[in-house]
Amino acid sequence: MNEFDSERIEFLLEEMDYRKEDDVSKADLIIINTCAVREKAKNKLYGHLGRYKGYKEKNPDLLICVGGCTAQNLKEKIIKDFPFVDIVFGTHNISSIPSMIQKRLNDNKSICSILDEGFDYDLKKFKKNYSFKSYIPISIGCNNFCSYCIVPFVRGKEISIRPEVILENIERLVETGILEITLVGQNVNSYGKDLDKPITFSEILERVSEISGLKRIRFMTSHPKDLSKELINVISQKENIMPHIHLPLQSGSNKILKLMNRHYTREAFLLLTEEIRKKIKKCSITTDIIVGFPGEEEKDFYDTLDMIEKIRFDRAFTFIYSKREGTKSADFKDNMPLSVKKALFTELVNVQNKISMEKNQSKIGCKYKVLLEGNGPRCELEGRLEDNTLVNLKYDDDELIGKLIDVEITEAKSFYLIGKKV
Ligand code: SF4
Repeated sequence: MNEFDSERIEFLLEEMDYRKEDDVSKADLIIINTCAVREKAKNKLYGHLGRYKGYKEKNPDLLICVGGCTAQNLKEKIIKDFPFVDIVFGTHNISSIPSMIQKRLNDNKSICSILDEGFDYDLKKFKKNYSFKSYIPISIGCNNFCSYCIVPFVRGKEISIRPEVILENIERLVETGILEITLVGQNVNSYGKDLDKPITFSEILERVSEISGLKRIRFMTSHPKDLSKELINVISQKENIMPHIHLPLQSGSNKILKLMNRHYTREAFLLLTEEIRKKIKKCSITTDIIVGFPGEEEKDFYDTLDMIEKIRFDRAFTFIYSKREGTKSADFKDNMPLSVKKALFTELVNVQNKISMEKNQSKIGCKYKVLLEGNGPRCELEGRLEDNTLVNLKYDDDELIGKLIDVEITEAKSFYLIGKKV
């Protein structure tokens, strides 16, 4: 969602004749679009601001703006501790950025603009960072209030974008050459319930899949409690809906799931993954796991590890619990020392890496359609299989970027594959 917001900001700035400057020390305007999911993101913001203060001292005309979730959450602190910041804006008032910049340039006074209500998503106004793939938000905000999560406080209640707006914008993007669309929402599975004419996520997904010329559809994120049988059926029937579901488990212990306010049990989650694998051919399932949630004991951790071994996720994004002030779990008692959390975290990562490696090794010798997305860190081309596994290609023809090509897998690593064009 933040990436899409950054694309919106970039679009608005270009309309004002600003151009991207790769060297931040030479910029006339710096916008930091913040995340708030983990404490580390907040600390990173403070680090950046410390550095940018020096730039402002050298160039008093430099404008420094802070937006996004941390700005929404900590506006008073940012204004008080970093008085050189010119503009602070929240998650719901990105479209006011041009008028805020103009006002700041005219009045020479700092501005704080945090709207608690409002909805300004114009799906036409964003800078496409790729010519062949794009995000499209289908809903903003979240009503779930998982006890550890700051998102409902900074993004607000869930608001769904009307289906005709989504469809019209995807059709427009496909006409410009977009091959892959990722539908994004904090919980895509509850899409459409708040609309005047309610519609389910599986219904909108099916309608998106019928757009001619759209080769690949992805979506994220799915809350397990809302993932329906209809959705599984639609994915299994439509060739352009990619066989990948990101399904955050968070914990394998029923006690911890209850404390997290997740509204499912380990047994229900297990049945859901079995159903997905039975119905959707070659579907990859990835997940998020939190280690060291307040109240977690070693036996709860081993329940999680047991789920990892039973379900054999394709990949897992694992985190040590990060306390977010203002959330319910920030007040929970946390008895597990950080050293124990770190040791359990490493144990879990090792188990998951072994599973990911085995899954990737099983792909050696197989052929897949790959959408090439750009250059990888080792100067090779990088792309994704249908099931979202990353693949690197030793091939230096940049003309292939943005194309769907056939690839044979020759080697496997835990986090990616290596292949050759066939
Ligand atoms: S579903 Fe839970 S974890 Fe996801 S954004 Fe909403 S509150 Fe946060």
